[in-house]
Amino acid sequence: MHPLLPTAQKTNLLDLNRQELEAFFIAQGEKGFRAAQVMKWIHGRCVVDFDAMTDLGKGLRAGLRDYAEIRLPEIVADQCSEDGSRKWLLRLADGNCIETVFIPEAGRGTLCVSSQVGCMLNCSFCSTARQGFNRNLGTGEIIAQVWQAANALGNRPDDTRRISNVVMMGMGEPLLNYDNVIRAMRVMLDDFGYGLSKRRVTLSTAGIVPAIRRLRQDCDVSLAVSLHAPDDQLRNELVPLNRKYPIGELLAACRDYVGDDSRRRVTFEYVLLSGINDSDAHARRLVRLLEGVPAKINLIPFNPFPDTQYRCSPPATMERFFALLNRAGIVTITRKTRGDDIDAACGQLAGRFQDRTQRRARSMATQPRTHA
Ligand code: SAH
Repeated sequence: MHPLLPTAQKTNLLDLNRQELEAFFIAQGEKGFRAAQVMKWIHGRCVVDFDAMTDLGKGLRAGLRDYAEIRLPEIVADQCSEDGSRKWLLRLADGNCIETVFIPEAGRGTLCVSSQVGCMLNCSFCSTARQGFNRNLGTGEIIAQVWQAANALGNRPDDTRRISNVVMMGMGEPLLNYDNVIRAMRVMLDDFGYGLSKRRVTLSTAGIVPAIRRLRQDCDVSLAVSLHAPDDQLRNELVPLNRKYPIGELLAACRDYVGDDSRRRVTFEYVLLSGINDSDAHARRLVRLLEGVPAKINLIPFNPFPDTQYRCSPPATMERFFALLNRAGIVTITRKTRGDDIDAACGQLAGRFQDRTQRRARSMATQPRTHA
């Protein structure tokens, strides 16, 4: 925390899950159940002014004003797509900016949440990767994205539910910010938080194998894995993390994640890149690879961004690929591209931040410039 901030001594209540909030109140000489009350105000009703929390006594409210705060990132841009998707650019206390996207569909509303400022992984087809990495988000900064969206959309978990699903699929690799992501997901799942079921919170990972194994013990939300290739050679190129955790180990962890529960499946994301991973042979290899894995496949049309060498597969190729998987009996859906007119589609989230890895500068120096 910055020592010069006037509020430096205050605890940001958004950084705590219910258990920690209970401990916080008990340490203040209060009853533990205050945690549930305060969480209900903050997340259930979007109230962050302690004075408006009318079921807390005057003394407690005054105390909270002195030693606690609810620190929210500021909304610096709020864009609506023609298709109803909405993207917020949020400025954090240190000036970095991150993005959060809401995607309404028939019967559900999905919020796509970021876990890091930038990303450390260097997937070749992702625009966040191009931006480099700055830091992990704190628990409060992760849950504040849900709060800001909930507030803007008028979400009330008890009656008007606008956010029915959360996907940890925004900027960053959630399993490289493990503790904060788990703590924030606990608030999403909490009855006094956002009240979402584990089925409706999905964590997407490029495949940090040991963390997938831990996640199963700690908070077994729905799991999505960015596969994108049916063999190690190609996956090494697209998702360099594969050199550390190759496909065999990754799929073993996925099988164990689901365990004996025959209703559960892991979602495998597969971005279709024209001429790279979209042939019939790739589809067949993918089918063979996933034999015996309780899998669903999510085909994602590639979303282009400036200076990328990749192209989206033509519609006919996507349909063939889809049909081959489908005929082999794998539950497959093609994800509709949403919000690309506001750069809110998968892989297009960029935010605004300082790149500590210097990746941006390096890639500018080595890449042929296509524009003057
Ligand atoms: N790091 C996590 C979370 C990011 S989720 C992960 O890798 O799963 C974002 C999803 O969008 C991932 O499946 C990612 O591979 C995919 N993606 C990245 N860039 C994309 C692009 N340009 N077009 C379509 N999908 C992309």
